[in-house]
Amino acid sequence: MQRDEGTQAGSSVGHEGSAGYALAHTRSWLEKVRDWELWALWRARPAAVLYILAVEALAVALLVLLWRTTGPVTAQQGLVAAVLGVCAVLHTWLGRREEERRRAAQVNRHVDLVEIWWVSAAMLVPSLAIAVIVVLRLQRYLIARRPPMRFLFSTASISVAASLTSLTAQLGGVPEVLASPSSGFPWWSLSVPLCALVAIGSQQLTVAGVVALTETGPRLKDLFGNAADNSAEVVAVSMALVVAALPTGARPLWAAILAVGLLLERLPRLQAEASTDPVTGLVNKRAWQEDAARVYARTGGHSALLMIDLDRFKRINDTYGHVTGDDVLRAVGALLKEHTRPGDVPGRWGGEEFTVLLPETSQREALEVAERLRSAVAGHSVPSSRSRGGSIIVLDDLSVSIGVAVGNTELGLGDVLHSADDAMLGAKEAGRNRVKVALMTRSVAGVGESSES
Ligand code: GH3
Ligand code: MG
Ligand code: MG
Repeated sequence: MQRDEGTQAGSSVGHEGSAGYALAHTRSWLEKVRDWELWALWRARPAAVLYILAVEALAVALLVLLWRTTGPVTAQQGLVAAVLGVCAVLHTWLGRREEERRRAAQVNRHVDLVEIWWVSAAMLVPSLAIAVIVVLRLQRYLIARRPPMRFLFSTASISVAASLTSLTAQLGGVPEVLASPSSGFPWWSLSVPLCALVAIGSQQLTVAGVVALTETGPRLKDLFGNAADNSAEVVAVSMALVVAALPTGARPLWAAILAVGLLLERLPRLQAEASTDPVTGLVNKRAWQEDAARVYARTGGHSALLMIDLDRFKRINDTYGHVTGDDVLRAVGALLKEHTRPGDVPGRWGGEEFTVLLPETSQREALEVAERLRSAVAGHSVPSSRSRGGSIIVLDDLSVSIGVAVGNTELGLGDVLHSADDAMLGAKEAGRNRVKVALMTRSVAGVGESSES
């Protein structure tokens, strides 16, 4: 509906001719100016405004201090800074899709591995690190298209971290030692980890400050990032230490570090993509089979298996559309997660079928779990919207048929799956919305006693 209105508005502007177009253009430009983050800054709490301006002023002051404490730039420093800059630009460019995807999925903080390059520049070539950062931030600005005020603040936060890291490195004699290892500074080995600590800590503090002042009731992980954010931060800074510590002759290895950096950004996503069902967030069939086989073997077959099939699901798709069908699948997936224990293995088998492996579970216990799931689905209602017209509907007559089978030392996971599937079909035949248990003999199983709802 809304899309239709949008199209009409768009075409009416077109019919009014160039004056109308210019008017609309000016209006949209004015709206953009009105929404500028620059004004948003003044709308923020005074304490937050002061804090942001203070961090930006600190960034400038530290840069001046750094500039005054470093000697003249040597040709070697210039070359090292240029190569680090090129690595940073390549890293940003080659990893841009990954970065943006991660940023979009991010709830609070964004840690990127491009940090490798400016942290190592801050350690090796203090007077030129800012050049690397400027190039990097300009490039990022063009890619990320973030609101200018936020962008300026994160640039200031990075600049503060880089300057403090540089000052620490200079005090510890890191730039000289790393440029010519033979000059051997006695405690440089201590100043290197100190640089890492400063690089991580100073960014954490500046960002935590702005979060504390702009968000209401922030939790600790809002302030200082979650475990994944902090692991990424530690990985980036550790790799920066490796870059900085490589002696002159080994610097071509920076290319390998760039490759590893790019790969590390992709890896978690590739892993998740390969094993997760995008609709329900449960593991997909292939990953479920791997996980279940491992758990089944570990428990020596003392596991139970549930095969769950949504009843008359095709009707939902046919009546309300596939988007609503997916809403139902998502809701059932969530119920499976909610009603199983952390050690259980729920997965999406395919279509509207789900499987759950219950390790170290007897038939009686498995029946209880199955019954709990059955009644949870039967008592659940899923809000959705019709694909045409968009009106909200509530589906409250969902049900599942569940087959239960229990393994033993003599049966393989495949046998148990077959039995659970047969039992599930038995539940369908018996009228749906019920649980049936498979009678297990040595290696052949038949549908037997049932526990009907
Ligand atoms: P029964 O009670 O006998 O299980 O009937 P049913 O309609 O649930 O079973 P049937 O096998 O006839 O239909 C399953 C339907 O599931 C057919 C297919 O369109 C739908 N389906 C399979 N995968 C998906 C999916 O990922 N999303 C949606 N929306 N529908 C799916
Ligand atoms: Mg079905
Ligand atoms: Mg089915």
